[in-house]
Amino acid sequence: MANTLMAIAAHPGDAFFTMGGTVAQHIQNGGNGVFVSLTLGEKGAPANIPVERYGEMQRAASQEAAKMLGAEFELLTYPDAELPFKDQAALAVCDIIRQHKPDIVITHWSGSWHKDHQNCHLLVRDALFYAALKTMGRKDQPHTVRKLFYAENWEDADNFKPDTYLDISSVVEKWLKACDAYPMWRGQTGFFRYNDYYSSLAVMRGCLSGFRHAVALMSDPNERVSRVRTL
Ligand SMILES: [Zn+2]
Repeated sequence: MANTLMAIAAHPGDAFFTMGGTVAQHIQNGGNGVFVSLTLGEKGAPANIPVERYGEMQRAASQEAAKMLGAEFELLTYPDAELPFKDQAALAVCDIIRQHKPDIVITHWSGSWHKDHQNCHLLVRDALFYAALKTMGRKDQPHTVRKLFYAENWEDADNFKPDTYLDISSVVEKWLKACDAYPMWRGQTGFFRYNDYYSSLAVMRGCLSGFRHAVALMSDPNERVSRVRTL
């Protein structure tokens, strides 16, 4: 069975803009990809669109973008800007991990100014622990994720130190097209030019890694230790 990469984000835009290139490349390489968003990001609604309506637009865009990349999309509808750091939420993420059994998980780095992003980071850490815990009885069997990465995100930049560069040259066009499903990608809902930032970032990271386009990932500091008897 092909191994699965799961991207878990606070908001759909974070999932697709900051983790989508990685997911697309994993699928291109023969793996499975699952996007998980813990909220709909509905409070990012512009003044002329009601919050509820914007949430539905975000849901539709996510389903379309996931389909374009051949990935699955899972949604936990916690209220945007109020994502709780609670065991109940960590267990909900644990259940999604046990259901899809990802080999690799990618999520937010902790160095964020955004409280939903910080809480997502913490929830995923706890969810990985619960998912692997054999004595934690849930619907599905325990599952241990092999590798955890953090994504590069303009809102989570504090102390982000990448150690892994992934060549996404062969999927970059497909990934950018999927991101275009979201009105916020082209700056239609706020001031930030997501399209310019993330497409340029892929070029910049490509320059540093010798690829045409790349994403930079950060390993969990706890996973950087090697235990060896010889070098
Ligand atoms: Zn976000």
